[in-house]
Amino acid sequence: MESSEPFIRFDQLKRFLDIIFPRKCILCKSSHDGDAETICPNCMDKIPFIKNPACVRCGIPFEVTYPIEESLNYLCGECRNSPPLFDRALSVCQYNEAVRDIISTYKYHNKPYIGKDLVSIILKFLDEKITELSPKLIIHVPLHVKKLKERGYDQAYILSEGIGKYLDIPVSYGNLVRTRYTTPQVSLSGSERMENVKGAFLVIDPSGVKDKSILLVDDVFTTGATIKECVKVVKKAGAGKVYVLTFARV
Ligand SMILES: [Zn+2]
Ligand SMILES: [Zn+2]
Repeated sequence: MESSEPFIRFDQLKRFLDIIFPRKCILCKSSHDGDAETICPNCMDKIPFIKNPACVRCGIPFEVTYPIEESLNYLCGECRNSPPLFDRALSVCQYNEAVRDIISTYKYHNKPYIGKDLVSIILKFLDEKITELSPKLIIHVPLHVKKLKERGYDQAYILSEGIGKYLDIPVSYGNLVRTRYTTPQVSLSGSERMENVKGAFLVIDPSGVKDKSILLVDDVFTTGATIKECVKVVKKAGAGKVYVLTFARV
């Protein structure tokens, strides 16, 4: 007798796979149930998510205990005194020890699949804001080809690809390139960082960015030296508004 019931249903299969290959949290290594995330609910609580109020330009959260009306579009002192070249910067969370561990596991331990988890967290918090900005193209802060070969994947590209796919925004790959191999920014001071990345990026085909509003994606906004250099290069090539999206910000 024929039956339309499959031999094993998807939910049964999933439960079966979860037992054989339990999902391990990338931070505390505990096994846990859950769908796409490999960060357990306990460790998710350790991430300092940015909640309003924040500067409407650079996204830095204000440390105030009283409510601020979001529609008033507050700017921080720095953006008021010297507005950054980018039009807006968005981040999901601030940087702390847990976030540092997540990012370094993602970047330095050959775990490109963590990018998928970060994309789902980014979208959970920022999909409406990104949609509101309606960028026409997504570009990531690229690695130098030598670094890409060492690492085997470009962590910022994985984020940009996931966001683009989900929000149906075209993703550019290979137009913004890093032409110079630079010293890791982490070992340098603020002004040294600016100097280190100066002239390190190039837009190969300016017609690909001309008059387009762009979402520039990276994993972390630290001093912003690398990101600012990319914004400068992309705007010089003729881009319209440039928005910056990072998972974390310092
Ligand atoms: Zn955990
Ligand atoms: Zn600001």
